[in-house]
Amino acid sequence: MWSKGREIAAGDTVILWLTRDALQPLVIEPGKEFNSKFGSYRHADLVGIPFGSKVGSRTGNGFIHVLRPTPELWTMALPHRTQILYLADIAFITSYLNIKNGSQVVEAGKHILTGPFLGTGSGSFSHSVMRSIGTSGHLWSYEFHETRANKARFEFHRHGISDRVTLTHRNVCKDGFTVTDTADALFLDLPAPWDAIEHAKKALRKDRIARICCFSPCIEQVLRTVSALNDSGFTDITMYETLLRPYDIQQTSSLPTIGEISDKLKQSEIRREEKRLKQIASGHRGGSDSTSPAKGNGQKNVSASAGGKRAKTEEEDIIDVESQVIEDSQNFLTKDVSMDGGLLLVKAEEVLDDGNLKMEKPPLAQPMKINLSKVMPEVRGHTSYLTFACLLPPLPTIGVVEDESLEQV
Ligand code: SAM
Repeated sequence: MWSKGREIAAGDTVILWLTRDALQPLVIEPGKEFNSKFGSYRHADLVGIPFGSKVGSRTGNGFIHVLRPTPELWTMALPHRTQILYLADIAFITSYLNIKNGSQVVEAGKHILTGPFLGTGSGSFSHSVMRSIGTSGHLWSYEFHETRANKARFEFHRHGISDRVTLTHRNVCKDGFTVTDTADALFLDLPAPWDAIEHAKKALRKDRIARICCFSPCIEQVLRTVSALNDSGFTDITMYETLLRPYDIQQTSSLPTIGEISDKLKQSEIRREEKRLKQIASGHRGGSDSTSPAKGNGQKNVSASAGGKRAKTEEEDIIDVESQVIEDSQNFLTKDVSMDGGLLLVKAEEVLDDGNLKMEKPPLAQPMKINLSKVMPEVRGHTSYLTFACLLPPLPTIGVVEDESLEQV
């Protein structure tokens, strides 16, 4: 599956990583050029460089990364001929259909038979399945749109997996599958899966548990599929929806501790009480209403002070204290100490003659920066419902007792 070489060779498929959201497959054909808004690149210049290289454009106004294809990258970069399956669904389906590499296969002495798989579409899921089943697995894939079937066949050939995929151009709802009692797992991604359920039952193996998954965007389709699965004798019918929630991680300055903030607030309370008592005392001395504290609304004296400035309210005092705490903490973190490989470094003037640290501002036992994670704002929403079911092997029939005398005993 794709090149295993370290260096890129002519004829290789590579994935060009232009930006996080712009990936593009490219077949290396010396003599051709790749042009984009990220610059101009000769294919011949990519031959011989290692996969994963960052390459600058010939005009010097951009760069690209040239990557080795993987099923994940292929899904992000492939040419869309249809709606495709994305990684969250692919991973979940692969796991729940128990699609796996062929180690058990060798023990069992026969090929693992994974598939059939329908419809091929753009081949996004097929490439992941091919990696999962390994070289001893086989995939039967069906597509009723002839052009899509031909394009997928061509891609399978170019990606070196055509010997392990049998791609058939046919309408499986009408004509069924080309295999009987064969498949370990079967996946249906088509508008009317219920029409293919009876055919699917014939294709699945009967000597051990076989599994099916139907991929449908609407709940009405799910209901019809569940009914069809029930009618055909499938068990363990369960529906899931897979949602991906990526997190964005950012580094930010660490905040002061709760203890530091509460200490500052307590000190401010004490100062405020002292001020209040002073004001009451001076009010008594002057006997003027204008110097007495306002009652009930948390306001201090709001008349102009001797300097002509308005006295602060209690709320303003608290905000001041909090801002000071944050500022102190940030200053301390950014100016007074620094982290080096996890060690807290303290400036020389912070060290006293006796070798102890000057502890006006105790060094924090926490790193200067903390990692914050938050859900990324753009989350891919609903894609489809995944309806899974199992087909159990028939129960062993109890032997008919032919000797009548034994039956009476
Ligand atoms: N799962 C594919 C992927 O990841 O790239 C995408 C599949 S696409 C959504 C569905 C495909 O099923 C289409 O290409 C369509 O032509 C094909 N299809 C629909 N009904 C079919 C049928 N009855 N028999 C065979 N193929 C069918």
